[in-house]
Amino acid sequence: MKGILTDTTLCIGCRECVIACKQINKLDDDIPHRWNLDDGLSGLNWTSIVDKPGDRHVRKQCRHCLEPACVSVCPVGALTKTDSGAVIYDGHVCMGCRYCMMACPYGIPRYDWDQQVPYVRKCILCYETRLQKNQQPACTEVCPTKATIFGDRDELIKEAHRRIKANPERYIDKVWGEHEVGGTSVLYISDIDLSFLTYGQPLGERPVPTRTSTAMHAVPFAFVGMGGLMAGLQWIIGRRNENKQPPKELTDASEETKDE
Ligand code: SF4
Ligand code: SF4
Ligand code: SF4
Repeated sequence: MKGILTDTTLCIGCRECVIACKQINKLDDDIPHRWNLDDGLSGLNWTSIVDKPGDRHVRKQCRHCLEPACVSVCPVGALTKTDSGAVIYDGHVCMGCRYCMMACPYGIPRYDWDQQVPYVRKCILCYETRLQKNQQPACTEVCPTKATIFGDRDELIKEAHRRIKANPERYIDKVWGEHEVGGTSVLYISDIDLSFLTYGQPLGERPVPTRTSTAMHAVPFAFVGMGGLMAGLQWIIGRRNENKQPPKELTDASEETKDE
């Protein structure tokens, strides 16, 4: 299983990784919305750099959890944990319920409201564009200081502990993601506390799906109500199906061929 190790002590905040991500995924310039959080992630930014005091910079992206809460709560299987380590998304089956956004302990998935039919957006570890071609993700390839590197998860964990042991005064003695929520494919070592990435909440080592799936299935019904929820889903599925219809001129041509 593959993963990413980000060493925040090597990050210079150049944002080359952010630009590479936008290019490989053909993401337009971000459109500021009042509901965007201040961590830089959005439907059009799948990775970001959070600047911290002391000239520190921390990459934020999907952690590609080993037992992802987003996958466990999705009622239609739009999110999948692949053998490669990547947690990928299929917009064709997503019905827009946003359970995944509520379940993620890292607050990663975002809604792309700028599409005619909104989609959930997040880092997919360059699964189709790079991983399936035996190439590393675009973001790790461009990093000029190797602050963020790609490799086998087991090897990355060994490398992380090797660096901490070799320079104990440089690092906090912790590999973020080694055990957190059952382990994640994206790992961090750092000289600053990274608990802000989980909004200060200690997550523990137990996988989130075992704790939240029951609660998550109850939340939307409590807040939205069954009627409102079903109407919303019907609308989104209807719009999505409309988008899947072939253009009228193709349908007409096909009818003509049948008549001949
Ligand atoms: S970080 Fe969130 S979105 Fe990413 S795999 Fe884990 S639960 Fe899913
Ligand atoms: S792995 Fe790919 S999709 Fe994920 S942040 Fe890096 S460039 Fe973006
Ligand atoms: S490309 Fe590397 S050094 Fe530059 S911001 Fe991204 S992780 Fe940091």
